[in-house]
Amino acid sequence: MEDHLSDHTFSRFAKAFPNSGQDTLKTVKKRVQSLAGFQPVRYSCCINSCVCFAGPYKDLTECPNCKESRFKANGQPRKHYDYIPVIPRLQAMSANSEHAKKMRYRANHVHTPGTMKDVFDGSHYQSLLNTIVPGEEDNPFFYFSDERDIALGLSTDGFTPFKKRDKTCWPIILFNYNLPPEIRFQKKYCIHVATVPGPKKPWDWDSFCWPLIQELLQLEQGIKAFDAISQRLFLLHAYLILAFGDIPAMALIMRMRAKMVFGLVEFATLKLFASTLVRTMYPCDETRFLELHPLDTPHLISPSALMRD
Ligand SMILES: [Zn+2]
Repeated sequence: MEDHLSDHTFSRFAKAFPNSGQDTLKTVKKRVQSLAGFQPVRYSCCINSCVCFAGPYKDLTECPNCKESRFKANGQPRKHYDYIPVIPRLQAMSANSEHAKKMRYRANHVHTPGTMKDVFDGSHYQSLLNTIVPGEEDNPFFYFSDERDIALGLSTDGFTPFKKRDKTCWPIILFNYNLPPEIRFQKKYCIHVATVPGPKKPWDWDSFCWPLIQELLQLEQGIKAFDAISQRLFLLHAYLILAFGDIPAMALIMRMRAKMVFGLVEFATLKLFASTLVRTMYPCDETRFLELHPLDTPHLISPSALMRD
């Protein structure tokens, strides 16, 4: 796995070394799933990757954009979108003493007013520290009031996996900002959530983020987890505090034309929402994604208008 062998190469090993007793790829995959304790969740998506048939689209039988059928004649979906759950991975990190210690970086970070050393010195994070998490009126608590609360960042970018460059994929990646800056962007600490398979740019990126949003809303209210340092169960909270990407990626996330994003990024500080950003995701035209400061939230445009751009 560490050497990124393709499925094809792996299966050829058994033929090259018939007496090695090597397990089949299917067996190895089952064993990895068993050791991991969780597995990807499979959704169906449009054959042209316009939408994921999740959330408000889950009952549709054809794509709302290109009108391609969702299913083959035999009733099977024409295309899949695999989503790898985040919650079990954050729980596993908290239960691992080495990871848990590293993730205390955020709590140990000392903020000096007027000095910008990390994302935790920013005004958005600092204001969250004095903000009560909505939805818990009986037992109110502030964002990041527990040293184990996790700050997450989201990134996406389109890339062309093949030489002809006529197909694009869009990986969705989370970064754990509780880790020290020198390691948080290392590959082994990046949390790959899913990859929008392509071949085209998603028409409704929100629909591919639907499973992630559901998990973020759960994480905002707390998930039971084991703390390897105190050796006790606790309520693990995680909040999405920022998103970043190049101009086309931000245009996708913000549902704006790239030209508008370019102007706004120049003149405004982008600040994202703890998971409140996605509170009213659907229907499409009612998405309220993020605040822009000092400008007001820009006028949001429909995916159809984006595609005409
Ligand atoms: Zn479509």
